[in-house]
Amino acid sequence: MSMDKKPPLTLYLAAPRGFCAGVDRAIKIVEMALQKWGAPVYVRHEIVHNKFVVDSLRDKGAVFVEELDECPTDRPVIFSAHGVPKAVPAEAKRREMVYVDATCPLVSKVHVEAERHHAAGLQMVMIGHAGHPEVLGTMGQLPEGEVLLVETVEDVAGITPRDPARLAFITQTTLSVDDTAAIVVALNTRFPAIVGPAKEDICYATTNRQASVKAIAGRIDALFVIGAPNSSNSRRLVEVGSAAGCAYSQLVMRADQIDWRAIEGARAVGVTAGASAPEVLVDEVVDAFRDRYEVTVELVETARENVEFKVPRVLREA
Ligand code: SF4
Repeated sequence: MSMDKKPPLTLYLAAPRGFCAGVDRAIKIVEMALQKWGAPVYVRHEIVHNKFVVDSLRDKGAVFVEELDECPTDRPVIFSAHGVPKAVPAEAKRREMVYVDATCPLVSKVHVEAERHHAAGLQMVMIGHAGHPEVLGTMGQLPEGEVLLVETVEDVAGITPRDPARLAFITQTTLSVDDTAAIVVALNTRFPAIVGPAKEDICYATTNRQASVKAIAGRIDALFVIGAPNSSNSRRLVEVGSAAGCAYSQLVMRADQIDWRAIEGARAVGVTAGASAPEVLVDEVVDAFRDRYEVTVELVETARENVEFKVPRVLREA
């Protein structure tokens, strides 16, 4: 470290940030399963989209796989917070495996909505990102062809529903609130009879994290979102930061990914973390700034969260 006087910098810490109740519960489920059954415990897909979290659970004895057929039948398997197509637990049952479903209850709520509309004879439109595990899981609640996926306003014009008067929509939980609102308008305009939730299915954690980024975006020269490239809610935070006026909005997994040259001359920087990024990584980033700047931290809290989800009974009894 240089002995020169460090330049001053205000670090705006967005709140809420980081772990949501669904991520917290999913991690607890893996830890409690390891306590109950010992290692190895198999986990289908990254339990949450964060390498740091996945690596630390792997160190404790979790084995991450992509598909059920990679798991031995005599070890427990956990399904990730994003949810799974119906066929997955059905197959686990058929193979007589012990499994624990760590699907976030707010994702399960969307699954139930989809099933309810399907039972009423409506075809579904899902607003979400193709290929994301949550979207695969939600679409996999209904038979093939029953869920039409739209990612953008433009996609709305391209879908051909069975009966435009018998439609309902659902959304991925981690979308951009503003982009989704525009897609919902497009759906309502093209299909006036479409049924849906009051606004969308975007969860409280996604909504709150985006609102806190909007609150700081106008005051900062740069925004760092701590999160993984495959984390939908983290990537949306970067987009929200740019759209709300912070041109240099970057996703970083750890402090070592910060491009210090790119923010030379910055005097105000914002930091937040996606719903699957642990607070220890926020501390790491703040410390990296303290190494280089005379930092004043300003907490900008736009909401308080006190949501907590119970772990499944089989583990509570452990
Ligand atoms: S981001 Fe929302 S839906 Fe996803 S795990 Fe967290 S609370 Fe659940």
